[in-house]
Amino acid sequence: MNIQKKAVIIGAGVGGIATAIFLAQKGISVQVYEKNLNPGGRCSQMIQEGHRFDLGATILLMPSIYRNVFSGLGLDMDKELQTTSLEPVYKIFFGDGTNFSFTRDSEKMKSQLEALEPGSFSQYEKYVIEGYAFFKLSIKGLLGKNFYHLFDFINFKNVFLLIKLKTWIKHTEYIKRFFNDRNLQMAFTFQNIYVGQNPYKQPAFFSMLPGAEIIEGALFPKRGMYQVVEKLMSTALGLGVEFHFKNPVSKINILNNKTDGIQLEDGTNIQADLIIANADLPYVYSQLLPKSRISARLNKMEYSCSAIVFHWGVDKVYPQLDHHSIFLNDPYKKGMEKIFNDKTLSDNPSFYIHAPVRSDKSAAPEHQDTLSIIVPAPQLDASVDQDWQKLKQTARDGVIRRLKEAGMTDIEEHIKFETCYLPKTWESYCNVTNGSVFGSLSHTILQMGYFRPHNRHSKYKNLYFSGGSTHPGNGIPLVLLSAKLTSERILKEITI
Ligand SMILES: Cc1cc2nc3c(=O)[nH]c(=O)nc-3n(C[C@H](O)[C@H](O)[C@H](O)COP(=O)(O)OP(=O)(O)OC[C@H]3O[C@@H](n4cnc5c(N)ncnc54)[C@H](O)[C@@H]3O)c2cc1C
Repeated sequence: MNIQKKAVIIGAGVGGIATAIFLAQKGISVQVYEKNLNPGGRCSQMIQEGHRFDLGATILLMPSIYRNVFSGLGLDMDKELQTTSLEPVYKIFFGDGTNFSFTRDSEKMKSQLEALEPGSFSQYEKYVIEGYAFFKLSIKGLLGKNFYHLFDFINFKNVFLLIKLKTWIKHTEYIKRFFNDRNLQMAFTFQNIYVGQNPYKQPAFFSMLPGAEIIEGALFPKRGMYQVVEKLMSTALGLGVEFHFKNPVSKINILNNKTDGIQLEDGTNIQADLIIANADLPYVYSQLLPKSRISARLNKMEYSCSAIVFHWGVDKVYPQLDHHSIFLNDPYKKGMEKIFNDKTLSDNPSFYIHAPVRSDKSAAPEHQDTLSIIVPAPQLDASVDQDWQKLKQTARDGVIRRLKEAGMTDIEEHIKFETCYLPKTWESYCNVTNGSVFGSLSHTILQMGYFRPHNRHSKYKNLYFSGGSTHPGNGIPLVLLSAKLTSERILKEITI
């Protein structure tokens, strides 16, 4: 007689819920323990006075990955999420007062580019085609599959792949082959910040981000990114997955070199045949597992930057803003160095605004606005004197000043309420190490593929990981892929 296997998942982030579905579909009994009141983690939602905010993730990028993973979950992504493709993808405001529409409309793009730099449209086409080729190659060879052994990763084919992906050229150097105009160079490289990276430090293959944005577009799910969580939740519940909210896990129990379950903060022990940790991987090693050398090694790895996020309920709609608006402010390069080297913030930081009312009136009361301002900020670093109240003020002053310059002169008078998430807030809300919300582990070439912490513990063979800090990486598309890859591995390695 087959006895049903029992899996416990720690965390109801996108990675945890998607893994739960994959396993439940195969007949495994799944229980999810989540420390917060609600699911979603860094893709949660907040509703206040009729204003609906996506707390973290706001852009649905790389829809081909969503479609692929959703179809494995038995879902039709476009139908379930009722997506629309945003046009333009976003509006960029430069420090010199000009702006640029990051459009997928070739004619509009051509006239903008040629006005800025004659001859640049054909260069743009080459850049986008090559960037998208990097995306396809990475999915096939680097991000979209499990590496079970070192030699699955280090082989002739992959060395060739790393060369093809131009891993040795920095993105900001590579872009100079295509554009001379400084604003265009910024417009097509700032996207590294999506994965918490300095574009001046990371390799050319991250041109896959703007490449995928132009070729595949950026989608908006009806009622926002939290719909991804809602759809996954209803599917998981339909399959009998049990969720236990407000139930923090305090320990992963170990017996005879295996895990045999978890302990909750109230002391209750829950037995399981296998555990999947969706909570941030370095946090799991340092806080939930016995002390080990791996944990010390994880401490020394590179972490992504963090974010100061302001959510504003505003009693007026500002036509200057698009659904997504990016403000790239001067001094731009120094601003990056401040975040990544000095672990502080420039007085005039670059930032991004999500203003969903432009595509979805239900995000705010009539004639009002719901604005989320994301200011990339340093990770928490105890070796540096970081006064977060001061940094918050610097970020806020910089944002308000820049919005006034862009014509929103009365913005301060129209903010009805404000909620602010600092790196410390992210750390305590999701247990994400160093508040490094775009990782937590950074996506350097030495922290990707086989070199990223594996999705199975090397010693406790029935302990698996799914989420942003394991293979393949962070951002909802990769976290969905992580759930798929981890589940594939589990189903290959355990006998059901
Ligand atoms: C400001 C911001 C903007 C972003 N923008 C985008 C974007 O536009 N597009 C995009 O694709 N991605 C974006 N991201 C990234 C995206 O949100 C994350 O990649 C994704 O949500 C991570 O999912 P996860 O499941 O790996 O982790 P998490 O969402 O962190 O989920 C882990 C879960 O584990 C729970 N947990 C932790 N410890 C315990 C414990 N001890 N016991 C029980 N439960 C525990 C946490 O509460 C959490 O719910 C953004 C992130 C942020 C913060």
